Amino acid sequence: MKIVLQHLTKKFPNRNKKQGGDVIAVSDFDFEIPDGKLVGLLGPSGCGKSTTLNLISGLEKPTEGKIFFGDEDVTDLQPQDRGVGLVFQSYALYPHLTVEKNIRFPLENLKGDKKLSKEEMAERVKTAAKLVQIDELLERKPSELSGGQQQRVAIARALVKTPGVLLLDEPLSNLDARLRLKTREEIRRIQRETKITTVFVTHDQDEAMSICDLIVVMKDGIMMQMAKPQDVYDDPVNLFVAGFLGTPAINIFEGKMKDGRLFIGEDAVLESDEFQNDRDVYAAIRPEGFRPDDNGPFKCRLERLEVMGRDVSIISAHDGVLNDTGLIRSIVDADNRIDPDSREVRFSLKPHKVFVFDKETEERIRFEVADGR
Ligand code: ATP
Repeated sequence: MKIVLQHLTKKFPNRNKKQGGDVIAVSDFDFEIPDGKLVGLLGPSGCGKSTTLNLISGLEKPTEGKIFFGDEDVTDLQPQDRGVGLVFQSYALYPHLTVEKNIRFPLENLKGDKKLSKEEMAERVKTAAKLVQIDELLERKPSELSGGQQQRVAIARALVKTPGVLLLDEPLSNLDARLRLKTREEIRRIQRETKITTVFVTHDQDEAMSICDLIVVMKDGIMMQMAKPQDVYDDPVNLFVAGFLGTPAINIFEGKMKDGRLFIGEDAVLESDEFQNDRDVYAAIRPEGFRPDDNGPFKCRLERLEVMGRDVSIISAHDGVLNDTGLIRSIVDADNRIDPDSREVRFSLKPHKVFVFDKETEERIRFEVADGR
């Protein structure tokens, strides 16, 4: 089932009287979540991820705009009539009920022609439990389960009504690092097997990058970019997206386009016919975009090397750098021999790892270089 958001906006009254005005948690969202895909809503705290999910589930009503499931307008439908399965950060299982009863609970309340017999319910519970691989644990109470197992029960409970849409709000936050990794793979597997259109809220870019078919990057209630994870990384539309994705973070510099060259400070680091008009910009370079080169145009002060086996991190400095640390982090193959006692390190840049942004709007300025990629 595809989900269509049409000019969707949610405003909350601002409780801070001094600030006045409304909080715009979601601003004019106008995009489609394709059928059968796992889509991640990604962005910093307060960017509107949970609000978007709550609008889709029906827990919140939009201020403006519409939501469609397939061709059906569900904007005015109550949550229980939308056919969504919800999983939250806290598993919220009933402690006094067994796993089996917890999963069965949503089926007990079905009414009219949706009402199920005891046998049908037992069958559905078994199928859902099998899918999340807890069918051996049905007789236990939640307190007798690990965090990861509890979250699986919560997922089974969301799946038992065979929803058309599955909504997951930070479902891995309460798990330790190892369980997070394992459970996110599980979620991917379950989603692939069921092919349920799934929206997954996270502020963790690794989580979103590793399991989602598509990522929606959000900031201050505004959708910045929606694309495949690798495309968001390789082709960010603005400075925020470039800076938000990637560990180590992208390196950001004050730059200037002039006479067909891109300058960082005095160094003309790239050439392109499109760098003509005199213009101040931000230049952002991924850590893997630096090539150590004794004759390279980008002259940096070497601070230190961090050897990581296969790779080497070169920590250097340049007057144009805007990173919080004031340092540039580049990652190169360990085959590159850098003299750790040298005071200077010179680089040439891989053009497709360099992004240029307008200084005012922070939107991407695209360019071609003569030697291509
Ligand atoms: P987090 O990652 O911290 O959970 P989020 O991206 O999910 O954040 P939301 O919870 O959707 O963000 O909140 C978006 C904005 O709307 C925030 O500025 C928040 O303070 C505001 N907001 C959310 N719910 C309400 C509410 N009921 N009343 C007033 N403001 C609200």
